[in-house]
Amino acid sequence: MHVSAIIAAGGRGVRLGGVLPKQFLALGGRTILQRSVDMFLASDDIAELVVALPTDLVANVPDYLRGRTKPIAIVEGGARRQDSVANAFRTVSGRADIVVIHDAARPFVTADVIRRTVEAAAEYGAAIAAIPSTDTVKRSGAGGLIRETIPRAEIFLAQTPQAFRTSVLRDALAQAGEGLDATDEAALAEQAGHPVRLVEGDPRNLKITTADDLMMAERMVDSPEVRAEQTRLRIGNGYDLHRLVAGRPLVLGGVTIPFAKGLDGHSDADAVCHAVTDAILGAAGAGDIGRHFPDTDPAWKDANSIVLLTRAAEIVAMAGFVVVNVDVVVVAERPKLVPYIEAMKTNLSKAIGVAAGDVSVKGKTNEGVDSMGAGASIAVHAVALVARV
Ligand code: MG
Repeated sequence: MHVSAIIAAGGRGVRLGGVLPKQFLALGGRTILQRSVDMFLASDDIAELVVALPTDLVANVPDYLRGRTKPIAIVEGGARRQDSVANAFRTVSGRADIVVIHDAARPFVTADVIRRTVEAAAEYGAAIAAIPSTDTVKRSGAGGLIRETIPRAEIFLAQTPQAFRTSVLRDALAQAGEGLDATDEAALAEQAGHPVRLVEGDPRNLKITTADDLMMAERMVDSPEVRAEQTRLRIGNGYDLHRLVAGRPLVLGGVTIPFAKGLDGHSDADAVCHAVTDAILGAAGAGDIGRHFPDTDPAWKDANSIVLLTRAAEIVAMAGFVVVNVDVVVVAERPKLVPYIEAMKTNLSKAIGVAAGDVSVKGKTNEGVDSMGAGASIAVHAVALVARV
């Protein structure tokens, strides 16, 4: 399925008091238009973009619309929004099955909302993102008196994106050409007799129109939710070292390894599990092993660190992440770890809830130097990649 996106940025509205149309105002280091464009570039569902700019700005296309990861065509906007969209539609690839239209003034659109709208348009012909009204809606009559109260369950507030099968949009825009005026393309499609499906929008998908909207948007740019949405993949780093002492079992990655010494510590001192625990917690921004499992807590005395790691994986999941992969380096002069690597990988992958192939464990000596090289300690380094779900 070939999906093209039209970004409607042709408006000259300077209601916010500046000299530039509002879509060119900066919001946390990027213009509102760039933020909208970036969300569509990042969406796996979109093959190309057509951006309708105000006529006087077409000669001066901003750098962020050039040389990006997907083709971006620039067209002149028209007097009305639907004229801008019609101009852009003429430039859309002939291969397009679905065309998605988005207001540049909604920079907080999410990949999920884009996908839902595209999928519903493929199924129903046309679809728009919308959110249920939380306010009761009144219809006013003569003299400022209420004529009727509209049942709230029937009221949805339209957002963009709005997506259409190419043939449906062509039909809808033809209606507009005949003099129909509409604030959005869905209304044109409705008037042309096409069913339009409502799909779940996002309350954060704010349209920036007034100075108050802009202030709210500036707060949202700084919010953890928006930053998190924009960073789906995150990396974490973990490190641990324990002393090797006589009279303790050597436990690494949940495997008890026959050896003359073991690692000293409050729990079973499984430095592999501890480093991996810190790596996944770190990737999720969910603290560290000492915070969740303090060694002052008798509950963790001689604890099986595989159990700690399993709990950490649950904390990571609760924070909204899945672990993608983990890579571990164990720095130990002796014993040789090769015979135990597969068992460690199996234990770690079960505890974290990933496939064994997504966990890597490598042994290293320290060339005889430092405490690891002298056989006085074992150190472990781990990195983990997590993805927001
Ligand atoms: Mg430790």
